[in-house]
Amino acid sequence: MNLIFLGPPGAGKGTHAKMLCEKYGILQLAAGDILRRNIKEGTPLGISAKDVIARGELVSDDLVNDMMFEEILKLVNAKGFILDGYPRTINQAEALGKFLSKEKIELTAVVNFIASENVLVDRLAGRRLCAISGKIYHVRNMPPQKEGFCDCHHQPLIVRKDDEPETIRHRLKVYHESTKPLIEFYRTKGLLHDIPAEGEASLVQKDLDTLFEKISSIK
Ligand code: ADP
Repeated sequence: MNLIFLGPPGAGKGTHAKMLCEKYGILQLAAGDILRRNIKEGTPLGISAKDVIARGELVSDDLVNDMMFEEILKLVNAKGFILDGYPRTINQAEALGKFLSKEKIELTAVVNFIASENVLVDRLAGRRLCAISGKIYHVRNMPPQKEGFCDCHHQPLIVRKDDEPETIRHRLKVYHESTKPLIEFYRTKGLLHDIPAEGEASLVQKDLDTLFEKISSIK
């Protein structure tokens, strides 16, 4: 089963992709995580992407396409994958479509996470990370045991650079301009499934489980 998770920043794509992958034994390919790994390792891709990401802009289509195609090809023996945060532009979606048909890989469905702007801003602005494990907290919805410190390594929690309020607004604008058109792109292909994503994580997860069962029974 090969899926795309589509939706604005803060909609919960990453959180739910991780839960589904653990449950169903498929693999998550999160474009943002792979880019941040490249930045950490100082690769040429990481060096070109670093400032672009900090400003809340999109990394160029060619760089991201090559990066993701390479990752998908590593998964030939996997049960399936979730592309999280990729594609984010029509150009990326078209390139991905050509790549998948060349490799004879079928796209099963596209899950569209829906949440209002207020909820998204609140989630992103309250997001905190452990600098060592990357574990995600939220100051109110998912607080650590000791305020400001992670439970796993007892280190001060950090704010992702692109979760600063100004950059959050810009990322949402970029989403509306560049990524939102993908909803119609995949709807016309008959692949799109909407998921309301404002509720608690456990409720969203329940809807996703139902959707997952439905999709796997069709395929
Ligand atoms: P979010 O979905 O919360 O914005 P991500 O971790 O998915 O966070 O992405 C962080 C940043 O990485 C994006 O703002 C963008 O700069 C870059 N990025 C991630 N995916 C893509 C993509 N498919 N195309 C271009 N840039 C991307």
